[in-house]
Amino acid sequence: EYAEISLKDIDQVAKSSFPLCMRHLFEKVREDHHLKHGGRMQLGLFLKGVGLKLDDALAFWRAEFTKKVGSERFDKEYAYSIRHNYGKEGKRTDYTPYACQKIILSAPGAGDHHGCPYRHFSEDNLRAALGRMGLSSRGMEGVMDQVRNKHYQLACTMTFEAVYGTSCDAGINHPNQYFEESQKILK
Ligand code: SF4
Repeated sequence: EYAEISLKDIDQVAKSSFPLCMRHLFEKVREDHHLKHGGRMQLGLFLKGVGLKLDDALAFWRAEFTKKVGSERFDKEYAYSIRHNYGKEGKRTDYTPYACQKIILSAPGAGDHHGCPYRHFSEDNLRAALGRMGLSSRGMEGVMDQVRNKHYQLACTMTFEAVYGTSCDAGINHPNQYFEESQKILK
């Protein structure tokens, strides 16, 4: 059902089709060459859901993390849990990507980058991020109204509508749904 995305396209696809929560995690791992556990889970399972194959996922995380830690440590501490997410280790459960509800209810601590930006960012940071997604000041005010009323998924839906210039009647309830709807429009 999912299209496959390959490693060489991933930066471009992140820019054009990832919802803000995943754009943020993606930018952070590129910038810091590291993500704490909550972020690795949230982004890692999302990437699996958009069709990144296990070998590409290992290559992606390895390329970033080994800029900070040796490849020995990467293999020992991180590769296992990536394979685990793909059901290749432990109980071999095929873990599903997180829905908005779960992400919104998560509780990122200091140094964490997971969570839902509409819920967990400061107002200034959220405005700056929405600006980078190309929202006009009018579009931004609409989104901020939803945020003030704690309608985080509606805020995300309005962002989607502003970015792609089309209505999203179903509403956003899953980051992978956001991705798929955007791919439908862009293709
Ligand atoms: Fe991500 Fe869902 Fe929040 Fe949108 S509403 S940023 S898809 S968690």
